[in-house]
Amino acid sequence: MASTTHPHAFHFDRAVDSYWEASADPLGIDTPPLTADETCDIAVIGAGFTGLSAALELAEQGVDVRVLEAGRVGWGASGRNGGFACMGSHKLSYATMIRRYGLEASRQFYDTMRQSVALVRDNLQRYGIDAWATEDGEVTLAHLPSRVQELRDEQAYLRQTFGDETEFLSKDDLKALGLDGPGFYAGLKGKVGFGIHPLNYVRGLARAAAKAGAKIHASSRLVRWEELPDGHRLHTPGGVLRARQVIVATNGYTPEDVSPRHAGRIMPALSSVIVTRPLTPDERQAQGWTSDLLAYDSRKLLHYFRVLPNGRFLFGGRGGTDASDRGDAAYRPLLTTAFNELFPAWANVEITHYWRGFVCLSNDLVPYVGALDEKQTVWTALAYHGNGVAMGSWCGRAVARLATRKTARDELSPVLTRRLSRFPLPAFRPLYLKGAYVWYGWEDSR
Ligand SMILES: Cc1cc2nc3c(=O)[nH]c(=O)nc-3n(C[C@H](O)[C@H](O)[C@H](O)COP(=O)(O)OP(=O)(O)OC[C@H]3O[C@@H](n4cnc5c(N)ncnc54)[C@H](O)[C@@H]3O)c2cc1C
Repeated sequence: MASTTHPHAFHFDRAVDSYWEASADPLGIDTPPLTADETCDIAVIGAGFTGLSAALELAEQGVDVRVLEAGRVGWGASGRNGGFACMGSHKLSYATMIRRYGLEASRQFYDTMRQSVALVRDNLQRYGIDAWATEDGEVTLAHLPSRVQELRDEQAYLRQTFGDETEFLSKDDLKALGLDGPGFYAGLKGKVGFGIHPLNYVRGLARAAAKAGAKIHASSRLVRWEELPDGHRLHTPGGVLRARQVIVATNGYTPEDVSPRHAGRIMPALSSVIVTRPLTPDERQAQGWTSDLLAYDSRKLLHYFRVLPNGRFLFGGRGGTDASDRGDAAYRPLLTTAFNELFPAWANVEITHYWRGFVCLSNDLVPYVGALDEKQTVWTALAYHGNGVAMGSWCGRAVARLATRKTARDELSPVLTRRLSRFPLPAFRPLYLKGAYVWYGWEDSR
């Protein structure tokens, strides 16, 4: 698919140059490539939050499960995201969601998002994962004076529709709370959401899954998939894995050529991150940003940012539409400019790390969990719309429970289990994305 499938973005043989890679705890377990013909009950493709949460659940149920990962554990978005464990894994407005799926289904979906954040906290505790978890709380910041009333309206809407209590913060409140900046006019503070070290988390999930009995094969890219009457044969460069069922957990890195059931159904999009050197307390005072809260601005093409526990500042946003190395280098100054505009006092602070990765959108703008075939032997969970730390964990577990029939489809919100529809004229997806960026950019400016 034109530029977003540029081979430069699929360098499975080397880790991305992220701050998380530079600071993570070692994986601490062996994940040998598949080198022979092997058999298992359920195969999982992809060792990110989704795949490893599925593998963990299956192994704990006593299922014979193996994970095939093209790179290393957490190589995809899971090891290189902003580490915001929070709600918001959809781009569909709540009003449209309610019109399309009903109020009850939308409330169940909202509750699922809430539960997903709690699941991450629970996983950290249950499996003893040190992922630099922060206190709870997140804030959305009005990026224009015209957005202040929208935050007030949103506060009322969330209370009435989902019973969610948020706190409105005026410009003066922001200042008092250390959330000040020239581009922030008000805020809406929610109680759910916290920060983590995502690579430590995904490695912790891998250790927990392996301890429970899952076998994880790194450097084992699925290159050919045979669907036979008696099951699936998954070909990697080093061997073949036979499985009764398959869970595809590849999200924005989904190989549509190898998994034709996904063809035309997902839209990868780039997100990018910079991290600064540690800021001193004086530097933070000078900017007026002394809070550790997770923060986003109210743009449709939003920026997300937070101070890490060691004082570094993480700032992220979209990542352009050219996935090549040239596109990668070209995008860094654009993200840096946005950072400098919002945090001018730090314009000369050294940026030590910059990287990008794929998130995944669906045609319906909500995540999907469920089967892709009539016989219900091919499953997938994906499309968290750039917000899959928590939902990837939850949906990975959910898809595993569907595969073992521990959970029935109708126990999940119909928002998640509707048919995964194809994009109209899928070949034009890169153009849709470019068009959406132009449209949203215009909307964000007024
Ligand atoms: C820069 C960036 C910042 C983000 N920030 C946040 C954030 O702060 N909070 C948040 O909630 N979400 C964030 N996200 C999104 C979040 O990271 C993803 O939604 C989540 O990690 C998806 O997890 P996953 O396991 O489904 O997919 P991934 O983690 O992408 O894993 C898919 C795996 O599949 C493997 N794979 C692909 N093809 C094959 C194949 N043929 N054979 C075998 N394996 C294969 C890949 O190597 C990869 O490891 C961000 C994403 C990016 C890129």
